Amino acid sequence: MSLDDLKRLIKDMPISSVLGRYITLSHKGKDTKACCPFHDDHDPSMHVNDNKGMYWCFPCQKGGDAIHFVMEFKHLNYIEALKDICSQIGVRFEDYDTEKKKDPKREKARELLQRACEYYRKQALSGKHQAYLDFVKKRELPDETLERYKIGFSPAGNHLAAHLLQMPEGPEKGFTLSVAQEIGLIGKNDRGDFYDFFRERIMFPVCDTGGMVIAFSARATRPEDEKRAKYINSKNSFMFNKSQALFGLNLAKAQIRAKDAVIILEGQMDQIMMNRHGFENGVAALGTAFTEENFRLLLNLSRNFYLAMDMDRAGQKAERKNPRNSK
Ligand SMILES: [Zn+2]
Repeated sequence: MSLDDLKRLIKDMPISSVLGRYITLSHKGKDTKACCPFHDDHDPSMHVNDNKGMYWCFPCQKGGDAIHFVMEFKHLNYIEALKDICSQIGVRFEDYDTEKKKDPKREKARELLQRACEYYRKQALSGKHQAYLDFVKKRELPDETLERYKIGFSPAGNHLAAHLLQMPEGPEKGFTLSVAQEIGLIGKNDRGDFYDFFRERIMFPVCDTGGMVIAFSARATRPEDEKRAKYINSKNSFMFNKSQALFGLNLAKAQIRAKDAVIILEGQMDQIMMNRHGFENGVAALGTAFTEENFRLLLNLSRNFYLAMDMDRAGQKAERKNPRNSK
Protein backbone atom coordinates (compact mmCIF):
# COMPACT_ATOMS: atom_id res chain seq x y z
CA MET A 1 0.00 0.00 0.00
CA SER A 2 1.16 3.49 -0.78
CA LEU A 3 0.92 6.88 0.86
CA ASP A 4 -1.89 7.63 -1.61
CA ASP A 5 -3.82 4.73 -0.08
CA LEU A 6 -3.21 6.21 3.35
CA LYS A 7 -4.41 9.66 2.22
CA ARG A 8 -7.53 8.01 0.81
CA LEU A 9 -8.11 6.11 4.06
CA ILE A 10 -7.93 9.35 6.05
CA LYS A 11 -10.16 11.15 3.53
CA ASP A 12 -12.71 8.31 3.81
CA MET A 13 -12.96 8.84 7.55
CA PRO A 14 -15.34 11.48 8.92
CA ILE A 15 -13.13 14.52 9.58
CA SER A 16 -14.72 14.82 13.02
CA SER A 17 -13.35 11.39 13.97
CA VAL A 18 -9.82 12.67 13.28
CA LEU A 19 -10.16 16.16 14.79
CA GLY A 20 -11.98 14.71 17.80
CA ARG A 21 -8.73 13.03 18.78
CA TYR A 22 -6.94 16.38 19.05
CA ILE A 23 -9.58 18.85 20.25
CA THR A 24 -12.95 18.70 21.99
CA LEU A 25 -15.87 18.75 19.59
CA SER A 26 -19.43 19.68 20.42
CA HIS A 27 -22.30 18.19 18.49
CA LYS A 28 -25.54 20.10 18.07
CA GLY A 29 -27.96 18.35 15.76
CA LYS A 30 -26.13 17.91 12.49
CA ASP A 31 -23.56 20.61 13.31
CA THR A 32 -20.20 19.80 14.78
CA LYS A 33 -18.23 22.69 16.23
CA ALA A 34 -15.12 23.29 18.28
CA CYS A 35 -13.38 26.12 20.06
CA CYS A 36 -10.83 27.13 17.46
CA PRO A 37 -7.29 26.31 18.58
CA PHE A 38 -5.83 28.86 16.16
CA HIS A 39 -7.24 32.03 17.75
CA ASP A 40 -8.43 33.08 21.19
CA ASP A 41 -11.84 31.49 20.95
CA HIS A 42 -14.38 31.02 23.73
CA ASP A 43 -17.49 30.38 21.63
CA PRO A 44 -17.09 27.32 19.54
CA SER A 45 -16.60 29.08 16.20
CA MET A 46 -14.83 26.40 14.22
CA HIS A 47 -17.17 24.38 11.99
CA VAL A 48 -16.31 20.75 11.30
CA ASN A 49 -18.13 19.37 8.29
CA ASP A 50 -18.05 15.59 7.77
CA ASN A 51 -19.82 15.75 4.41
CA LYS A 52 -17.22 18.06 2.97
CA GLY A 53 -14.34 16.62 4.98
CA MET A 54 -13.34 20.17 5.94
CA TYR A 55 -13.03 22.43 8.98
CA TRP A 56 -13.46 26.20 8.80
CA CYS A 57 -13.15 29.05 11.28
CA PHE A 58 -14.81 32.33 10.25
CA PRO A 59 -13.08 34.68 12.73
CA CYS A 60 -9.53 33.60 11.87
CA GLN A 61 -10.16 32.22 8.39
CA LYS A 62 -8.32 28.97 8.99
CA GLY A 63 -9.59 25.89 7.24
CA GLY A 64 -8.71 22.70 5.41
CA ASP A 65 -8.86 18.93 5.60
CA ALA A 66 -7.91 16.57 8.43
CA ILE A 67 -4.24 16.30 7.45
CA HIS A 68 -3.97 20.06 7.13
CA PHE A 69 -5.48 20.47 10.58
CA VAL A 70 -2.91 18.20 12.20
CA MET A 71 -0.08 20.00 10.38
CA GLU A 72 -1.25 23.38 11.73
CA PHE A 73 -2.26 22.18 15.15
CA LYS A 74 0.92 20.28 15.94
CA HIS A 75 3.27 22.27 13.70
CA LEU A 76 4.22 19.24 11.64
CA ASN A 77 5.17 18.72 8.03
CA TYR A 78 2.98 16.62 5.77
CA ILE A 79 4.61 13.23 6.41
CA GLU A 80 4.87 13.87 10.15
CA ALA A 81 1.16 14.71 10.21
CA LEU A 82 0.33 11.46 8.41
CA LYS A 83 2.40 9.54 10.96
CA ASP A 84 0.69 11.34 13.82
CA ILE A 85 -2.78 10.52 12.47
CA CYS A 86 -1.73 6.88 12.01
CA SER A 87 -0.74 6.59 15.65
CA GLN A 88 -4.06 8.17 16.67
CA ILE A 89 -6.27 5.89 14.57
CA GLY A 90 -4.30 2.72 15.21
CA VAL A 91 -2.90 2.19 11.71
CA ARG A 92 0.73 1.32 11.01
CA PHE A 93 2.34 4.07 8.93
CA GLU A 94 5.02 1.61 7.75
CA ASP A 95 2.33 -0.50 6.06
CA TYR A 96 1.65 2.40 3.71
CA ASP A 97 5.15 3.71 3.30
CA THR A 98 6.18 0.87 1.03
CA GLU A 99 7.14 2.65 -2.18
CA LYS A 100 10.74 3.38 -1.36
CA LYS A 101 11.74 0.16 0.32
CA LYS A 102 9.73 -2.80 -0.84
CA ASP A 103 9.99 -5.65 1.60
CA PRO A 104 10.85 -8.75 -0.48
CA LYS A 105 9.19 -11.07 2.03
CA ARG A 106 5.95 -9.13 1.93
CA GLU A 107 6.08 -8.97 -1.88
CA LYS A 108 6.59 -12.72 -2.06
CA ALA A 109 3.76 -13.35 0.41
CA ARG A 110 1.39 -11.19 -1.63
CA GLU A 111 2.31 -12.99 -4.81
CA LEU A 112 1.84 -16.42 -3.20
CA LEU A 113 -1.51 -15.50 -1.65
CA GLN A 114 -2.77 -14.03 -4.92
CA ARG A 115 -1.66 -17.09 -6.86
CA ALA A 116 -3.21 -19.44 -4.31
CA CYS A 117 -6.46 -17.48 -4.51
CA GLU A 118 -6.50 -17.83 -8.31
CA TYR A 119 -5.66 -21.53 -8.05
CA TYR A 120 -8.48 -22.26 -5.57
CA ARG A 121 -10.91 -20.25 -7.69
CA LYS A 122 -9.90 -22.16 -10.81
CA GLN A 123 -10.48 -25.44 -8.99
CA ALA A 124 -13.92 -24.22 -7.93
CA LEU A 125 -14.80 -23.29 -11.53
CA SER A 126 -13.54 -26.59 -12.95
CA GLY A 127 -16.78 -28.37 -12.04
CA LYS A 128 -14.71 -31.37 -10.90
CA HIS A 129 -15.26 -31.03 -7.17
CA GLN A 130 -18.62 -32.35 -6.00
CA ALA A 131 -18.15 -31.02 -2.44
CA TYR A 132 -17.88 -27.48 -3.80
CA LEU A 133 -20.86 -27.92 -6.13
CA ASP A 134 -22.95 -29.26 -3.24
CA PHE A 135 -21.98 -26.34 -1.02
CA VAL A 136 -22.93 -23.77 -3.66
CA LYS A 137 -26.20 -25.52 -4.44
CA LYS A 138 -27.24 -25.90 -0.81
CA ARG A 139 -26.75 -22.21 -0.15
CA GLU A 140 -28.08 -21.09 -3.53
CA LEU A 141 -25.07 -18.89 -4.09
CA PRO A 142 -25.21 -17.20 -7.50
CA ASP A 143 -22.13 -17.00 -9.74
CA GLU A 144 -21.96 -13.25 -9.20
CA THR A 145 -21.53 -13.68 -5.43
CA LEU A 146 -18.99 -16.48 -5.83
CA GLU A 147 -16.98 -14.27 -8.17
CA ARG A 148 -17.24 -11.15 -6.00
CA TYR A 149 -15.84 -13.06 -3.01
CA LYS A 150 -13.55 -15.24 -5.15
CA ILE A 151 -14.79 -18.30 -3.29
CA GLY A 152 -12.61 -21.26 -4.15
CA PHE A 153 -11.95 -24.89 -3.39
CA SER A 154 -8.78 -26.57 -2.14
CA PRO A 155 -8.64 -30.10 -3.52
CA ALA A 156 -7.36 -33.20 -1.73
CA GLY A 157 -3.62 -33.81 -1.97
CA ASN A 158 -0.62 -31.54 -1.87
CA HIS A 159 -0.86 -29.62 -5.14
CA LEU A 160 0.39 -26.25 -3.90
CA ALA A 161 3.36 -27.80 -2.16
CA ALA A 162 4.17 -29.92 -5.23
CA HIS A 163 3.92 -26.88 -7.48
CA LEU A 164 6.35 -24.90 -5.33
CA LEU A 165 8.74 -27.84 -5.09
CA GLN A 166 8.99 -27.90 -8.91
CA MET A 167 10.89 -24.61 -8.83
CA PRO A 168 14.53 -24.89 -9.89
CA GLU A 169 16.88 -25.46 -6.95
CA GLY A 170 18.42 -22.31 -5.54
CA PRO A 171 18.02 -19.56 -2.98
CA GLU A 172 14.75 -18.33 -4.57
CA LYS A 173 13.15 -21.74 -4.04
CA GLY A 174 14.23 -21.88 -0.39
CA PHE A 175 12.93 -18.36 0.17
CA THR A 176 9.59 -19.10 -1.51
CA LEU A 177 9.05 -22.28 0.51
CA SER A 178 9.87 -20.57 3.77
CA VAL A 179 7.50 -17.65 3.07
CA ALA A 180 4.72 -20.07 2.00
CA GLN A 181 5.21 -21.89 5.30
CA GLU A 182 5.26 -18.71 7.35
CA ILE A 183 1.95 -17.49 5.92
CA GLY A 184 0.43 -20.92 6.43
CA LEU A 185 -0.20 -22.05 2.86
CA ILE A 186 1.95 -25.13 3.32
CA GLY A 187 3.37 -27.01 6.29
CA LYS A 188 6.21 -29.45 6.85
CA ASN A 189 5.73 -32.75 8.64
CA ASP A 190 8.14 -34.63 10.95
CA ARG A 191 9.66 -36.47 8.00
CA GLY A 192 10.48 -33.15 6.34
CA ASP A 193 7.80 -33.45 3.64
CA PHE A 194 5.80 -30.41 2.60
CA TYR A 195 2.01 -30.63 2.57
CA ASP A 196 -0.89 -28.32 1.68
CA PHE A 197 -2.39 -26.73 4.78
CA PHE A 198 -5.88 -26.42 3.22
CA ARG A 199 -7.39 -29.60 1.78
CA GLU A 200 -10.92 -30.37 0.67
CA ARG A 201 -12.19 -27.09 1.99
CA ILE A 202 -14.28 -24.21 0.67
CA MET A 203 -11.84 -21.32 0.48
CA PHE A 204 -12.82 -17.77 1.44
CA PRO A 205 -10.08 -15.25 0.72
CA VAL A 206 -9.67 -12.70 3.52
CA CYS A 207 -8.67 -9.27 2.21
CA ASP A 208 -7.25 -6.11 3.68
CA THR A 209 -9.22 -2.87 3.28
CA GLY A 210 -7.57 -2.36 -0.10
CA GLY A 211 -8.83 -5.73 -1.37
CA MET A 212 -5.46 -7.54 -1.26
CA VAL A 213 -5.63 -11.19 -0.16
CA ILE A 214 -3.91 -11.52 3.22
CA ALA A 215 -5.21 -14.91 4.39
CA PHE A 216 -7.85 -17.58 3.89
CA SER A 217 -10.69 -18.80 6.00
CA ALA A 218 -11.62 -22.32 5.01
CA ARG A 219 -14.74 -24.37 5.65
CA ALA A 220 -14.54 -28.14 5.93
CA THR A 221 -16.42 -30.30 3.44
CA ARG A 222 -15.55 -33.75 4.82
CA PRO A 223 -17.82 -34.81 7.71
CA GLU A 224 -14.84 -35.86 9.87
CA ASP A 225 -13.22 -32.43 9.39
CA GLU A 226 -16.52 -30.66 10.09
CA LYS A 227 -16.61 -32.26 13.52
CA ARG A 228 -12.99 -31.47 14.30
CA ALA A 229 -12.58 -28.00 12.84
CA LYS A 230 -15.41 -26.70 10.70
CA TYR A 231 -13.55 -23.49 9.94
CA ILE A 232 -9.83 -22.97 9.95
CA ASN A 233 -8.02 -19.72 9.21
CA SER A 234 -4.52 -19.03 7.99
CA LYS A 235 -2.22 -18.82 10.96
CA ASN A 236 -1.19 -15.41 12.24
CA SER A 237 1.83 -14.04 10.42
CA PHE A 238 3.38 -10.80 9.27
CA MET A 239 0.53 -10.66 6.72
CA PHE A 240 -2.45 -11.50 8.90
CA ASN A 241 -3.64 -11.02 12.45
CA LYS A 242 -6.83 -12.89 13.22
CA SER A 243 -7.90 -10.49 15.96
CA GLN A 244 -7.60 -7.47 13.66
CA ALA A 245 -8.89 -8.61 10.28
CA LEU A 246 -12.56 -8.22 9.42
CA PHE A 247 -14.16 -10.37 6.77
CA GLY A 248 -15.89 -8.32 4.07
CA LEU A 249 -14.60 -4.92 5.15
CA ASN A 250 -13.02 -4.28 1.75
CA LEU A 251 -16.45 -4.71 0.13
CA ALA A 252 -18.50 -3.06 2.91
CA LYS A 253 -16.31 -0.01 3.63
CA ALA A 254 -18.00 2.40 1.21
CA GLN A 255 -21.51 1.38 2.33
CA ILE A 256 -20.62 1.70 6.02
CA ARG A 257 -19.62 5.29 5.33
CA ALA A 258 -22.62 5.99 3.09
CA LYS A 259 -25.14 4.58 5.59
CA ASP A 260 -23.14 5.67 8.64
CA ALA A 261 -23.84 2.28 10.16
CA VAL A 262 -22.13 -1.07 10.39
CA ILE A 263 -23.76 -4.46 10.89
CA ILE A 264 -21.62 -6.89 12.86
CA LEU A 265 -22.13 -10.49 11.89
CA GLU A 266 -21.12 -13.79 13.34
CA GLY A 267 -19.26 -15.39 10.47
CA GLN A 268 -18.32 -14.98 6.87
CA MET A 269 -21.32 -16.89 5.52
CA ASP A 270 -23.63 -14.45 7.36
CA GLN A 271 -21.68 -11.57 5.86
CA ILE A 272 -21.98 -13.03 2.36
CA MET A 273 -25.69 -13.79 2.74
CA MET A 274 -26.47 -10.31 4.09
CA ASN A 275 -24.48 -8.71 1.28
CA ARG A 276 -26.35 -10.83 -1.26
CA HIS A 277 -29.65 -9.57 0.07
CA GLY A 278 -28.76 -5.92 -0.09
CA PHE A 279 -27.26 -5.29 3.36
CA GLU A 280 -23.89 -4.27 2.05
CA ASN A 281 -22.55 -2.65 5.22
CA GLY A 282 -21.90 -5.84 7.20
CA VAL A 283 -18.61 -7.28 8.44
CA ALA A 284 -17.71 -10.46 10.31
CA ALA A 285 -14.93 -11.22 12.75
CA LEU A 286 -12.62 -14.12 12.01
CA GLY A 287 -12.07 -15.20 15.58
CA THR A 288 -14.66 -16.32 18.08
CA ALA A 289 -15.48 -12.80 19.23
CA PHE A 290 -15.22 -9.22 18.11
CA THR A 291 -12.07 -7.69 19.51
CA GLU A 292 -11.28 -4.20 20.66
CA GLU A 293 -9.04 -3.84 17.61
CA ASN A 294 -12.01 -4.66 15.38
CA PHE A 295 -14.10 -1.97 17.03
CA ARG A 296 -11.33 0.60 16.92
CA LEU A 297 -10.95 0.08 13.18
CA LEU A 298 -14.70 0.35 12.58
CA LEU A 299 -15.07 3.45 14.75
CA ASN A 300 -13.05 5.23 12.08
CA LEU A 301 -15.90 4.57 9.65
CA SER A 302 -19.04 4.87 11.76
CA ARG A 303 -20.22 5.05 15.34
CA ASN A 304 -23.47 3.22 14.74
CA PHE A 305 -23.13 -0.49 15.39
CA TYR A 306 -25.85 -3.05 14.82
CA LEU A 307 -25.09 -6.44 16.27
CA ALA A 308 -26.57 -9.37 14.39
CA MET A 309 -25.05 -12.25 16.33
CA ASP A 310 -26.38 -15.31 18.06
CA MET A 311 -26.80 -14.70 21.75
CA ASP A 312 -24.29 -17.39 22.54
CA ARG A 313 -21.12 -16.77 24.49
CA ALA A 314 -19.20 -15.33 21.58
CA GLY A 315 -21.95 -12.87 20.81
CA GLN A 316 -22.42 -11.79 24.41
CA LYS A 317 -18.72 -11.36 24.93
CA ALA A 318 -18.51 -9.14 21.87
CA GLU A 319 -21.50 -7.08 22.98
CA ARG A 320 -19.97 -6.39 26.35
CA LYS A 321 -16.71 -5.41 24.74
CA ASN A 322 -18.26 -2.68 22.62
CA PRO A 323 -17.85 0.49 24.71
CA ARG A 324 -20.36 2.39 22.61
CA ASN A 325 -22.91 -0.35 22.32
CA SER A 326 -26.30 1.24 22.55
CA LYS A 327 -28.21 -0.26 19.64
ZN1 LIG B 1 -10.12 30.50 14.57
